[in-house]
Amino acid sequence: MGEEVYDIIIVGGGSAGLTAGIYVRRAGLKALLLEKSYTLGGQAALAGAIENYPGFPEISGADLAKKFEEQTVKHGLEVKKEEVTEIRVEGEKRVVKTPNGEYTAKAIVVASGAKSRRLGIEGEEELIGKGISFCAWCDGAFFAGKDVLVLGGGDSGVKGAIDLAKIANRVYLVHRRDKLRAEKIWQERVLTNKKIEVIWNSTVEKIIGKEKVEGLIVKNLKTNKSKEIKADGLFIYIGHVPNTDFIEVKKDKAGYIITDENMETSTKGIFAAGDCRSSQWRQISTSVGEGAMAAIVAMRYIAALK
Ligand code: NAP
Repeated sequence: MGEEVYDIIIVGGGSAGLTAGIYVRRAGLKALLLEKSYTLGGQAALAGAIENYPGFPEISGADLAKKFEEQTVKHGLEVKKEEVTEIRVEGEKRVVKTPNGEYTAKAIVVASGAKSRRLGIEGEEELIGKGISFCAWCDGAFFAGKDVLVLGGGDSGVKGAIDLAKIANRVYLVHRRDKLRAEKIWQERVLTNKKIEVIWNSTVEKIIGKEKVEGLIVKNLKTNKSKEIKADGLFIYIGHVPNTDFIEVKKDKAGYIITDENMETSTKGIFAAGDCRSSQWRQISTSVGEGAMAAIVAMRYIAALK
């Protein structure tokens, strides 16, 4: 192998990647974590209040992510803020490319997560930061006393609406069906919150405003009738798309990486964990579990190479 060879390179610094980092560093391996964002923590850091992560009856996603990060620092994980653009196999080497150069490892854990899905309507990209947001926890404070609309009836949308209701004047939660997808406990909280109005069987068809969001055209998908709602903010929570373009391994139709039950991808020595993996599990606790599993299996793979 080449001169500077890491045992393990971890791609992505969310819950799964940071957990993998803790495991491999505690085992004394030479490891590098590459993260494209300025901050670590991934989706967990944007999650708002978390009540279902064991050991912390209530903690903010940002605080939990900080604790994960502190634990990796304690164990001396090397972190570089670089975006991975390609991974290739050269014999027993796994080569990871970033705009700054190439890094070589014996094994790789891909924990690159997923990003918010775009709605795909006119003005959406241009108005991000000018009324359009994908994170109530991060941007909610800009909408104090204002009216906002949240799109999406999953856990993220419903939690986002509840967080926003603490700050905003009025929250409209628009959902394309007549039943929410979110956990029952969040459904109960959203449906009993007097500041939140749920608009069923509907979606956002058009954004009003050129320089900033001034209102939204909401279409009822059953009646095909549209109405205007005055709002300063649109929070879009319609699911995710995986960050997996940089790697050529077997993926499902939506682009999520397929692994076996040991987190191994279709390429030997490359493992995947967390939200980038093809799986129905999308919890911080499951990402943490998968990060641990991927790290352990990757370490066994390396041990067998020697
Ligand atoms: P999600 O569960 O996929 O929900 C997305 C929502 O957006 C759904 O209600 C969906 O409607 C709607 N939607 C999808 N495409 C749309 C479109 N083009 N136009 C309008 N609406 C659209 O995504 P998520 O809420 O981000 O959650 C992702 C995963 O993370 C889930 O597994 C979730 O359980 C997990 N999570 C858990 C927690 C927690 O506290 N435990 C918190 C956040 C997220 P339909 O319902 O009709 O499909």
